Amino acid sequence: MATEHLIRPHGGSLVDRTGTAPDDLDSLEVVTLTSREASDLDMIASGALSPLEGFMGREDYESVVGSMRLAGGLPWALPVCLAVDGAPAGDRVALADQSGRVLAVLEVEGVYEYDKEREAEECFRTTDAEHPGVARLYEQKPLYLSGKVTVFERVEPPFPELARDPAETRRIFAERGWRRVVGFQTRNPIHRAHEYLTKVALETVDGLLIHPLVGDTKSDDVPAETRVECYRVLVDGYYPADRVLVSAFPAAMRYAGPREAIWHAICRKNYGCSHFIVGRDHAGVGSYYGTYDAQLIFDDFSAHELDIEPMFFEHTFWCNTCGAMASAKTCPHPTEEHVFLSGTKVREMLGNGEIPPVEFSRPEVAEVLIEAYKS
Ligand SMILES: [Zn+2]
Repeated sequence: MATEHLIRPHGGSLVDRTGTAPDDLDSLEVVTLTSREASDLDMIASGALSPLEGFMGREDYESVVGSMRLAGGLPWALPVCLAVDGAPAGDRVALADQSGRVLAVLEVEGVYEYDKEREAEECFRTTDAEHPGVARLYEQKPLYLSGKVTVFERVEPPFPELARDPAETRRIFAERGWRRVVGFQTRNPIHRAHEYLTKVALETVDGLLIHPLVGDTKSDDVPAETRVECYRVLVDGYYPADRVLVSAFPAAMRYAGPREAIWHAICRKNYGCSHFIVGRDHAGVGSYYGTYDAQLIFDDFSAHELDIEPMFFEHTFWCNTCGAMASAKTCPHPTEEHVFLSGTKVREMLGNGEIPPVEFSRPEVAEVLIEAYKS
């Protein structure tokens, strides 16, 4: 199926760094990856991080940290780096996951020092070690090892039925005749507010990719199994099957807020999305970022530099007077008319086995969450 009518991958072509293991694999020095690095490795292999073919070298790294562009000028928002204790002896190393399973070989290009505080300040906009992304950065080993990778063992996907590489989502979009596709990033169950904005977006394009992040998140986020079940019941009950695709996004959360919004958009372009939904405080955590920072950062790029089109959304709610979902942009009524529940209130209700108002959450979704709270 021809996919030429879809948006082109970032940098022009989809990278494929899968391959076969070399004969001398057993003789190579082994570098053990953190779960975030293993997730990045797998996304390099599949082309989700096109045009990257490996872990970043110093020039790309410095350029990305300083100006959100690769050394060649292409937009890129976050470092994709492999941290090590020292320079390897050979010109190739084997890369293994935490369990010791060897996944890939890296052709050593260089080893360089990096400034953790500078990376934190530029990429996370804070040097506060309480920030989960900064905390992880501070725990990293002191040097970055760069080079192209060849991956011969893919990471076990947590949801094999939802695991689709960019080549596959592109093939599915093409088969369904979609040209314009909007991607929706989420790491939470979808309530009415998010259902509404995905449908508003879908009204203007051909298809919707619900692309929940299933990689590492904070331990207090709703577990991925529960979220995936919520997406299933919601899509089955309320979306037309031929206009929506639910697939897992294998990235680990970095909680880098605005920069991560750009990074998420670029990844979704590789999956074949022409549009990308950016809500308030996208990929944020705590109060480190302003409400609209993740939308405003798109202005740092000229109109066609990113190619993928961001779609910005406000906080949305059910309005009793409008008798519809709305936002401050579309509803003139006072807040007493709006059905609003805080996250704390919703968790309390679900924990007590109570179904929130139907204007806030679909009952099928609420039931999945109530079951999850019981166990
Ligand atoms: Zn209203």
